[in-house]
Amino acid sequence: MEDEIVILGSGGGRHHIRTQHRATGGILFKFNGIQAHIDPGPGAIVRLNQYHEDPTKTEMFIVTHVHIDHFNDLSAIIESSRESLHDKKYDYFRKGILLTTNETLRYVSDYHLNMLEKVVPFKAGDIFHYKGVKIIGTKVLHSPKNEGFGVKFNLQDYSIAFSSDTMVFDGFSEQFSGANILILNLLRPDSVTCKRHLCTDEVIPYLNKLEPCLDALIITHFGSYMDGPRSERNHVPSQVKKFKEKTKIKKVIPAEDGLKIKISDLLNK
Ligand SMILES: [Zn+2]
Ligand SMILES: [Zn+2]
Repeated sequence: MEDEIVILGSGGGRHHIRTQHRATGGILFKFNGIQAHIDPGPGAIVRLNQYHEDPTKTEMFIVTHVHIDHFNDLSAIIESSRESLHDKKYDYFRKGILLTTNETLRYVSDYHLNMLEKVVPFKAGDIFHYKGVKIIGTKVLHSPKNEGFGVKFNLQDYSIAFSSDTMVFDGFSEQFSGANILILNLLRPDSVTCKRHLCTDEVIPYLNKLEPCLDALIITHFGSYMDGPRSERNHVPSQVKKFKEKTKIKKVIPAEDGLKIKISDLLNK
């Protein structure tokens, strides 16, 4: 299995939850032969099937916070990650590892938690080693009411970070330094600011502070002002153009539902 990203949903926020104008299934990240599902929002299990991915291969589940566009299908994908649930004596098989906030864990049934091999309460600043990969929790400034984190994977040949939902803040750039690839949740275009999310104009100076420069930026988790009920048009192409003009990042890729990207195609040669 070659390292790969599969976009199971390029939408974020409540309008896309309702309309599915852009899907909300999160992201599959395949690395070192491990399949991780990050932020399985509503429809994640539908999108896995629609895009011909195999839910039984998932062994790592990551939910960055309990907002429903990140959390909704978690139990469905845990249950779908094995072909049979239990043996003839009704002893449930344990498989997989879940990294999520303590808060999120309160909303997962014991029935599903007991299907997992390991549950790791996770937060910004935490470090977890899994099969030779260093997984680091990054800080988010998002909901004042919910715990959350972003996540960075340091592998032997590259480093990749998933910002999760966040605003920019002092230290935003530093925590992603050394990353080759950043998957950025970009809910809003241009200078359409928001108290919980970042927009293009706000984040560009922070991307320019990244040392060394990213090889690739993938923008995703687009909100309704970006493309949907509250935007007159799809603003994604103009944002890609802006990132290309105003940063030195060579590859800027807009997420689309069902898009599959090989990691080797993202890294500078
Ligand atoms: Zn979100
Ligand atoms: Zn959120």
